[in-house]
Parts: sequence; structure tokens; C-alpha cells
Amino acid sequence: MIQLYIPLNFLGVIYREIKQSLADLDRMFLLMDKEREVADRPGALALQISNPPPEVRFENVQFAYDPARPILHDVSFTIPAGKTVAVVGPSGSGKSTLARLLFRFYDVQGGQIRIAGQDIREVTQTSVRGAVGIVPQDTVLFNDTVEYNIAYGQPGASHAQVVAAAKAARIHDFIHSTPQGYATRVGERGLKLSGGEKQRVAIARTLLKNPPILIFDEATSALDSANERAIQNELRSAAQGKTSLVIAHRLSTVVDAHEILVMDSGRIIERGTHEELLAEGGRYASMWNLQNAVEDAES
Ligand code: ATP
Repeated sequence: MIQLYIPLNFLGVIYREIKQSLADLDRMFLLMDKEREVADRPGALALQISNPPPEVRFENVQFAYDPARPILHDVSFTIPAGKTVAVVGPSGSGKSTLARLLFRFYDVQGGQIRIAGQDIREVTQTSVRGAVGIVPQDTVLFNDTVEYNIAYGQPGASHAQVVAAAKAARIHDFIHSTPQGYATRVGERGLKLSGGEKQRVAIARTLLKNPPILIFDEATSALDSANERAIQNELRSAAQGKTSLVIAHRLSTVVDAHEILVMDSGRIIERGTHEELLAEGGRYASMWNLQNAVEDAES
């Protein structure tokens, strides 16, 4: 029995190693694929942000994943230094595409995106990605420890820095309550985290990276209202002193934004503050009334 057990156990280790390598290869191809989408100009310099946080501008941006199907049409807006602009609109209207373009996953095909006045196609993509932190809708956690997953935001971060970031993202108490604390393995083969917990790990990761620009792609999955409020508070503290773009699925998230953009079919169809848009009585106002009616019916 013992003789049989050892080789099988060994095979299990090899199997896990191969699976991990495949997962890593997957990630590598994904990255390589993205790399093919954008290439730095020869001699491109790094983005310079002399006075963070910087202003972000989308100027007449046009974009299509497939040339036969334009996605963004002449999109222009400015996020003043340190302010938050929120984007709302139906599924498929192009909200996440704005985030991908700002992170330079793809280059715009018309118009430009400027960070601190510099066209992001003219500077290195590494420097753009270094300046932008994304808290995505669906955070992918590595099959590793919680510590590794948070420290990924800033390789070489000390344990104290990881704990500080986790505290700020309000995930520390949860981590602390697990038997192995920060050494707990998460991901497919470890502790399963809820959507809200994963998003908090992503916030901690981003806080540690401490980028001057923040993109928050709100999870579409419904959260209970206590969790929703908690995430919104974390978002508010994470956005402190940063120039932020928030892709919102719940209108309660956007009430405080400097400007709200309402998108439909790749165009900005309304823009203004929450109060201005309500007073306008257009699409945003009907979305707001509808959401409140649904919440009232549920409560
Ligand atoms: P949601 O609220 O559902 O997240 P969204 O407003 O963020 O939607 P986007 O993800 O920006 O919408 O997508 C805009 C359009 O671009 C959609 O029609 C989508 O099908 C298309 N699209 C998104 N990603 C790709 C891609 N990688 N290749 C081709 N088309 C894409």
C-alpha cells in the first residue's frame, strides 16, 4: 500500500505542477496577445507625472475591436486631477472599453487619450500601466497565499505594508480570522472567497501599488446592501487623492461623482452631476427612478 501511495502522491504533485504551468502559460499568452495590440513608438519615453494626481482627458476617441463594428464614437470627457468621473449605461454600451483604453490594452483609432497632457500612444505602455490601477469586475486570484495576492500590487512589499493595505481595504479582519492568516492559500485550489472579498483583495492590491490614477469596474453581481455600502466606502477611501474613473452598475455609487457620463451604443448621451441629470429628467433620471422603484419593491 505504502509503495503504491508514494508514486500516486508524487503523480498528484506533478499533475498540480503541470496544471499550474498551464495556468501560467495561459496568462502569458493572454499578456502576449495584449502586447500585440499595442506597440511602443521607437524611442518612446516614460509618462511624466510631475504633479500627481494628473488630469485625464479623452478627446474625440474612436475605437473598434473589429473594424467592421465601431464601438466608441467621438467620446470626449475630462477627469480633473484628483476627481472622479462615473460612467453608467446599458450592458454593451462601451463602459469597460473606456477602462481598457485608459490602461492601454488597446490603442485608440481616432482622437487621443491624454494623461497629464501626454498622448498615451506616445509614451511607453509600461509607464502608463504603472500609473493606472484597475480594480476589475472580476478579480482573478493567483493560486497562492493571500499575502502574495496582495503584494502582487507592489512586488517586494513588506508584510507590514501588505497588512496596512488589507486594513485600508477592510479585508484584514477576515484574513486574520482564517487559521493560517496571510499564509492562507486562495484561488481555485485554496480558500474560496466571495465576490466582495475578492474585490477587497483587489482594492488592497491597488492601494499597495498606490497609482495616481484609479479605474474601478464595479461588479455586476448583486451584493446585499450592507456589502454594497462597505465596498462603496472602500472605493471612496481608495479614490482619495487619485484621479478616478468608475464604471458603475449601481447608481448609488455615482451620486458623489464630479461628473456622470451616460453611455448608449458607444456615445455619451447625457452628462452632468447627479442633481443636474435628475433635473434634466432624461435617461439618467428614468434609470434612477427605476432603480429606486426596484429597491423599494424589494425592501
Ligand atoms: P457591461 O456593462 O456588460 O460590462 P460595457 O458597457 O462595459 O458592458 P463593453 O465591455 O465596453 O461594454 O463592450 C462594448 C461592446 O464591445 C460590446 O458590444 C462587446 O460585445 C464588444 N466587445 C467587448 N470586448 C470585445 C473584444 N475583446 N472583442 C470584440 N468585441 C468586444
